[in-house]
Amino acid sequence: MAKQIQAIRGMNDCLPTQSPLWHKVEDTIKRVVSAYGYNEIRMPIVESTHLFKRAIGEVTDVVEKEMYTFDDRNGDSLTLRPEGTAGCVRAGIQNGLLYNQEQRLWYTGPMFRHERPQKGRYRQFHQFGVEVFGLNGPDIDAELIMMMARFWRELGIFEHVRLELNSIGSLQDRAEYRTALVAFLEQHIDVLDDDCKRRMHTNPLRVLDTKNPDVQAILVDAPKLSEYLGEESKEHFAGLCELLDAAGIEYQVNERLVRGLDYYNRTVFEWVTESLGAQGTVCAGGRYDGLVEQLGGKATPAVGFAMGIERLVLLMETLELTDVRRSVDAYVVTMGDGARMAGMKLAEQLREEVHGLRVMSHFGGGNFKKQFKRADNVGAAVALVLGENEMASNTVVVKDLRGGEQVTMAQNEVAAKLAELI
Ligand code: ATP
Ligand code: MG
Repeated sequence: MAKQIQAIRGMNDCLPTQSPLWHKVEDTIKRVVSAYGYNEIRMPIVESTHLFKRAIGEVTDVVEKEMYTFDDRNGDSLTLRPEGTAGCVRAGIQNGLLYNQEQRLWYTGPMFRHERPQKGRYRQFHQFGVEVFGLNGPDIDAELIMMMARFWRELGIFEHVRLELNSIGSLQDRAEYRTALVAFLEQHIDVLDDDCKRRMHTNPLRVLDTKNPDVQAILVDAPKLSEYLGEESKEHFAGLCELLDAAGIEYQVNERLVRGLDYYNRTVFEWVTESLGAQGTVCAGGRYDGLVEQLGGKATPAVGFAMGIERLVLLMETLELTDVRRSVDAYVVTMGDGARMAGMKLAEQLREEVHGLRVMSHFGGGNFKKQFKRADNVGAAVALVLGENEMASNTVVVKDLRGGEQVTMAQNEVAAKLAELI
């Protein structure tokens, strides 16, 4: 036998047993975004490496160590997208969608990061993201959070996620805070690990979400970002909190929440679950009012979020919320060559007449018992039986595979009966 070829580590197949749950998540995404009037955008999976370096920031985990970057045959440096915001902004600018306009957009698709694969962390994973352009106020931030809450409710996981919220202020607010934070960190330089030391000069806010417990201990006394927020940032945050209170959405203000990508300002948030261990963040986002200009467009306020679909599916599996619609309604069982052909014809006729009905035909022969077993295995609600008697009388036996009873009826009456199934 030839040697088998394996998938790339950290890149998974979505198997036919798993895809129904993915469909449920994807259908819910589409229903929820359309309930708010958002439009889908689809971007390429590969972009110029410059785009991510400029958008995400050179001194971030993603750009420093996680990107799949390669030279194509022309020698241009390309990168498999590690996230969707940069490409979405690029597409918006390039296609004139942002200038003096308001856009409420969503996307889903694969993202790529070269991380150590583990539960909830993969090298190819999927995100559902929303990006809104052209709106300044806290009302749109609140709408996005309400949209996510609706999504959790529809999937039945609202009780299992909690919202953490923070404001990281404007660029100027952060510049002042940065000076104070660096001065503080310098006094504790002996406690900092190499990563923190490096970050202290390149991206000191990132020291705040270190996982190192010794550093965490000294950070308790570090200057607080909230004390450096300007009036406008404070007002924006207060406005958002008020809207969330009015909407009955609970949140915890987490002063240490700064997010790993450089482009955020003001509002940042994460939805976290305790049910998935270390990879507990299922959704994250915030405002990024400077990014459009930074990528060559005209200054445009923007806010968005991205959700990790694998983590969501894992959470639903953990909570045993895996009850999804089976893929077949009716299974056609036949005996003999003539009946098989008639069965295929009947199946086509039913697909035509009953919109949305899922009909599967049995192939490969075997006795009735074997065929009924198959019907059961694929989750069909009824079996439609065509044997010699039925052929002769233009009838079909409709056997209820759950209750067990069966009725014989004229073939042209089956459609009306099966319409009840959907
Ligand atoms: P983490 O802190 O877990 O590394 P992150 O801050 O790098 O997350 P974001 O860039 O904010 O993640 O991406 C948004 C969401 O995408 C995350 O909250 C998570 O649900 C999901 N996600 C990110 N990286 C991965 C990955 N390697 N595998 C699976 N899901 C991921
Ligand atoms: Mg990460």
